[in-house]
Amino acid sequence: MFDSLAEKLQATLSDVRSRGTLTEDDVNAAMREIRLALLEADVNFKVVKRFTNAVKERALGSDVIGQLNPGQQVVKIVNDELAELMGGESAELRFSSSPPTVILMAGLQGSGKTTATAKLARLLREQNRSSVAVAACDVYRPAAVEQLITVGARAGADVYERGTDADPVEIAKWARERAEREGKDVLIVDTAGRLHVDENLMKELAEIKRVTNPTNVLLVVDAMTGQDAVNVAEQFAEVVQFDGVVMSKLDGDARGGAALSVKSVTGKPILFASTGEKLDQFERFHPDRMAQRILG
Ligand code: GDP
Repeated sequence: MFDSLAEKLQATLSDVRSRGTLTEDDVNAAMREIRLALLEADVNFKVVKRFTNAVKERALGSDVIGQLNPGQQVVKIVNDELAELMGGESAELRFSSSPPTVILMAGLQGSGKTTATAKLARLLREQNRSSVAVAACDVYRPAAVEQLITVGARAGADVYERGTDADPVEIAKWARERAEREGKDVLIVDTAGRLHVDENLMKELAEIKRVTNPTNVLLVVDAMTGQDAVNVAEQFAEVVQFDGVVMSKLDGDARGGAALSVKSVTGKPILFASTGEKLDQFERFHPDRMAQRILG
């Protein structure tokens, strides 16, 4: 994950760390390296600028220069700021005091929504949310309903589906009522994506949101698409209020840009990270742990 970025940052910081003394020029040089590494990792350029300025300000402003082990302190500042960039504190799902807690999954086609729906169901089941149902409202993508029937069952969730002929808003409404009737703890609603953000998608999503009254709206974005993932999140944010992000496909050759920029650009935290095609390759996202993982 973020191999190339991690390698470059670690090389720069290892150089900084090993110095007995540190001048302002050394800090500036290190920041230039870090800036390049972040830009190459497809981090939004405004975010990069803010980040390196924040690190520089803290490093130069806190009398790090001239102190014992100044390099260590700069490394710590970079670590803190990187965690802050990704949201600081880990963000939490909200649970409704009157079940079901409804979680609406939004995102473009292929972003990993259906997979994340089942993965989240599995994770919640593991956390003792005893009865989880998933609703198959993606009636447009070929085989999405079939896919959810398979992976949803594997995740230990009840799959609420009405094939591909019914209207997605109708299915969503029906699923919410059924979850209430059956006393489900959690209902996760898989919605239809499109290849691009378009008016129809947004209208449908807004309608599904209205009829399901979700406790959480999660936007699934594909980390491998880098800046595009962040642009998509920005476009969604303009139309459908979402609470947090599921960053999918953080394995593979994701360069890291999306994970590092999305909170800063949209103001919404990453709640979960998906790191593979298997059901259990899904975890809560912790900015501090992620920063440590990147910096080694
Ligand atoms: P949807 O159209 O948004 O519902 O997307 P899917 O859930 O069907 O995912 C699209 C493709 O991405 C599928 O082939 C999934 O197996 C794959 N996929 C989903 N999440 C991940 C992930 O975290 N890592 C990897 N490598 N592949 C993923």
